[in-house]
Order: sequence, then structure tokens, then C-alpha cells
Amino acid sequence: MNTIPELLSEQRAFFKSQKTKDVAYRINLLKQLKSEIEANEQAVYNALKADFNKSEFETFISEFGLVISEINLVLKNLKRWTKPKRIKSSMLTFPSKSYIYKEPFGNVLVIAPWNYPFLLAIEPVIMAIAAGNTVVLKPSELTSNTSQLITNIIEKVFPKSYVASVQGGVDVATELLDQKWDYIFFTGSVPVGKIIAKAAAKHLTPVTLELGGKSPCIIDDSVDVSLVARRLTWGKFLNAGQTCIAPDYLIVKSNIKQKLIEALKAEITKRYGENPEKSVDLPRIINEKNTLRLANMLKGVNVIFGGTINENSRYCAPTLVDEPDLTSDMMQDEIFGPILPILSYNTEKDIETIIWNFEKPLALYVFSNTKSFIKQILNKYSFGGGAINDPLIQFGNHKLPFGGVGASGMGAYHGKLGFDAFSHNKSIIKRGNWTDPPIRYAPYKGKLKLIKKMFKWFS
Ligand code: NAD
Repeated sequence: MNTIPELLSEQRAFFKSQKTKDVAYRINLLKQLKSEIEANEQAVYNALKADFNKSEFETFISEFGLVISEINLVLKNLKRWTKPKRIKSSMLTFPSKSYIYKEPFGNVLVIAPWNYPFLLAIEPVIMAIAAGNTVVLKPSELTSNTSQLITNIIEKVFPKSYVASVQGGVDVATELLDQKWDYIFFTGSVPVGKIIAKAAAKHLTPVTLELGGKSPCIIDDSVDVSLVARRLTWGKFLNAGQTCIAPDYLIVKSNIKQKLIEALKAEITKRYGENPEKSVDLPRIINEKNTLRLANMLKGVNVIFGGTINENSRYCAPTLVDEPDLTSDMMQDEIFGPILPILSYNTEKDIETIIWNFEKPLALYVFSNTKSFIKQILNKYSFGGGAINDPLIQFGNHKLPFGGVGASGMGAYHGKLGFDAFSHNKSIIKRGNWTDPPIRYAPYKGKLKLIKKMFKWFS
């Protein structure tokens, strides 16, 4: 067993050997990774089931299927992505040709959360490899089955001097962060994001921080209430609400609030039954600590549906809460569970008062059929990304950058943008030698007027 500094030192040497610069080598190993993941498909479902009762269906649509799509995308496009890209040259540098070279950062650290433990560990690893880096991954300690499986898969495919998975909790993460990396990719909570940023700043290491926050969902009275209820029930209770871009709370036009509440109750019952504890489709809360945190959030608020919590089995019922105070625990922190607070508004000022009470969220959703209302919301508020008339689906298009802004994170990835996130854009100009315009050389006397004109013409 290597120590962490030894492991990094081996990865540094491997990167310097230039082996990872060979695109065919990357493709070959990514193919092997894909085969190994496919061979472990059932094991992935079993691990997530064991970790927090996630169903095969949800694991497929929100983790396994997406991982395979991302590898396929890389395998199809990597040769093209890695080619130096010719850019139009400026006449100011005539004669010349301009290029962007995609350069790997070098030795990358990826730290993953527990809530989509397979996807959010493997996807950044795929993109870091695609871009030509070495990787140390630290999966979450809270999903021990999935993290062990990921470690087994990585160990089977890669020499550890190239890609390694190091398991452990805060101690291990802290030791990893003490090292000097060339890039750190972190997905997790805002408080830990600040710890990562501080550790990275010590070495001026660039970071992607994929964080969280309280993502609002605004609903006006032009909507089809039953369609909204159906889509919201899916987006809020998928993964038992433990989704970074889940609608954290609703802001509903007051004249349709009661109708929406009734539609949500009916929809939740339709999806998860009269007793959702018996539903095979509802995941559990990740651990006792988080179950207790949710139980505490429900104290002193008006629970109008659900509200049952079983700390032993880590069950939290899909729950609706009417008009919690903005100062309540529920409205202070990201909920990250199957609890949906419902606030209401009458004027646009009411919406503003609520949203500007919080840091910039990772997502925002607006349900409306009124173009001007949608436009105004999208222009006014800053958030990582979002969707109109459906929650979560912005995640489904790999051509859209996925990331936060302000307190919800920095940087973005998915698809080609993931490859870009792990690549430095190296600018290169190749100068022609067949002529050498003399204007830039001293003595400058009598040249200023012409050079000013050239700047005007050519810039
Ligand atoms: P977390 O911040 O507690 O943990 C994430 C990772 O950081 C884990 O691997 C953990 O071991 C490590 N870690 C924990 N404490 C640390 C410390 N003191 N120093 C260094 N490393 C430490 O987050 P979590 O509970 O696993 O995940 C939930 C959070 O992640 C939510 O806030 C959610 O919104 C956010 N999230 C964001 C995205 C996104 O893509 N933006 C995706 C999923 C989750």
C-alpha cells in the first residue's frame, strides 16, 4: 500500500513519461473501462440498492445510463477534440497561423459526493482521462458498497500510477488536499467547497466546484396544475430528494396554491402508494445523521402531507410543508431530502424577497405559460442553470454546461465541456518567415501614426 505522497509521486512520474499524451492509449483504456463497467452493471445496481435502497430504474436513468453515454461520446469524438484547433489569425500578427492546443493539466484530484455516488465519481474521472491527465479519485465514504465497487473497477483497468481510487473520509480527503495537484474537481456541499478552495489556493491550483444551494421553483397561475404536480413529484422525490438540482422549495401564485397542494398529494399517492415506506421505488436517506437532520427540520413547521420519519430504517416520507418561515431551519439550509416547502406569492416583489434572501442557487425552475413572466424571471435572477416547465431536465443535455455560479459553484462540465474542464487551452501562433514587416522594430520615429491606423483597421 502506497502512502498518498508516494501515490502522487508515482502519478507525477507517469504523467512526465508522456504516456497519457498518447490519445490512442487513452482510448484503449477508456474502452476497457467501459467493458468493465458494463460487466458490472448488475453489481452497480446492487451496490446502490445496498447503500440507500435506490431502485435499478433510477440507478439506470440517473447514473449508469449517463456514464455509458458519456464514455460513448468520448470514444466517438476524442480524436477530434484533441486535435489542435485552427483559429483565424489577426492581421496584426501577419503572416501567421493561430491554434489552440488542448493540454492536460497533469495530476488531477477528483472528490465525489454520496448522492449520485457512481455517476459523480466516474464521470469526472472519464473526462479527466479523456483530456490526458492522471487521476486520484476519492469516492464518498457514505456509500461504502458503491465506493468499493468503483475502486475494484478502477484497479482492474488502470495501473495506479495512472488512475487510482483512494477510499476514506475527512482524514483521507484532508491528506489528499495537503498535496500539490494540477487540478481539483470537487462535487459536494458549500461548506466543504470552501475548504477545497482554500486548500487549492495554497498551491494556486485551479478548481471546479460543483456545489449546492436552495434551488427555487416558481409557479404562476397560467399552468396546467396536474401536469406540474406530476413533473414536480418526479423531480423532487427522485433519489428521495437527495439531488443537488432538486427543487428545494416552491413559490406558487397564491390563487392556485390549494389546487396544487391537492394535486401534489394525489400524485405522490399515485406514485408511491398510501404508505410510501412500502414502495420499492423510494430510496432511503443516506445515513442516520441526515435522517435526524430532516426530522429536526420538520419541528415547528406546518406539515400538511407525509411527515413520517423512521430513523432506524432511514425512511422519510414524501412530505409537503405549508408556508415555513424564512428563518426556520428548513428555509435556512439546503433540504436535500423528500421534503417540499410551499411558499406563495401575489406580486413579483414577493418572489424577489424570497429569492434574494438566499445565495445564488445551482438551479431555478419556472412553470408558466406566460412568455413575459418566464423572460422576466430568467433575466432577473442569477443561478447555475435551470428549466422551464420541468425540473432536473437541464442535466439531460450533455451540450449544456452543468455548474453553479457564486455560492453554488464555479466551472462547469458534461460532454465535451467536461473534456474542456480538464484541459488547458494552450494558445500558439506559428509565424511565417517569408517576410518580416519592420514596423515594430526601433527606431520608432515616424511609425506611431501608421501603427495606430493598423490597430484601428485590424483589431
Ligand atoms: P460533502 O461536501 O459532505 O462531501 C463531499 C466529499 O467531500 C466527500 O467525498 C467527503 O468525504 C469529502 N469531505 C467531507 N468533509 C470534508 C472536509 N472537511 N475536507 C475535505 N473533504 C471533505 O457533500 P455530500 O454530503 O457528499 O453531498 C451533498 C452535497 O453535495 C449537497 O450540498 C449537494 O447539493 C452537493 N452536490 C452538488 C452537485 C453538483 O453537481 N453541483 C452534485 C451532487 C451533490
